[in-house]
Amino acid sequence: MAQNSFTQHCRQEADTIALAQKLASSLSHLFQADQSIHLNISLEGDLGAGKTTFARHLIQALGYSGRVKSPTYTLCEPYPIELNSGNPSSAASITAHHFDLYRMRDPLEWQEAGFAEHFDEPGFCLVEWPGKAEDTLPAFDIEIHLSAGEDENARQIELKANSEHGIAAIEKLHAQ
Ligand code: ADP
Ligand code: MG
Repeated sequence: MAQNSFTQHCRQEADTIALAQKLASSLSHLFQADQSIHLNISLEGDLGAGKTTFARHLIQALGYSGRVKSPTYTLCEPYPIELNSGNPSSAASITAHHFDLYRMRDPLEWQEAGFAEHFDEPGFCLVEWPGKAEDTLPAFDIEIHLSAGEDENARQIELKANSEHGIAAIEKLHAQ
């Protein structure tokens, strides 16, 4: 049976980072099998839940070595990523686009800023505060929800897949 969700209790930030790194490994396998695919991933949760922390470690675990800052003011930051498993036939060039839509004043501001084309480029989009765009964004392959735990550094992180590629990524998480 296809597994379309994955839930983890993170007692501390290091656990959140480890989960982001596991997802990076799953995505890396998908892109190395087919570097033309695009995944849309939402990151939901309150301010301070850890959305940017998760995105930063996901992008860096895929091999991006520079800084990953919060795109709060720019709405979107692009990160070119070269995936190379050592085998030239499975090397892949992809782009991660990290969005934070919190400051949008209009649900269509992301389209007016010219960001629509990023939603089918090889790679993936990570979108914090997708609700600010109301229902104007393309469908999400994976929805990630972070919520507070019983103490200050604890978080509950749930991943839910809604598409074939999303399910493939979640199945790889269970297999790791
Ligand atoms: P968001 O983007 O959701 O507003 P950030 O990632 O910017 O949140 O901030 C999360 C804050 O919570 C950071 O200061 C981080 O160090 C802290 N933190 C503490 N515990 C955790 C945890 N388990 N997972 C993620 N972040 C945590
Ligand atoms: Mg953030």
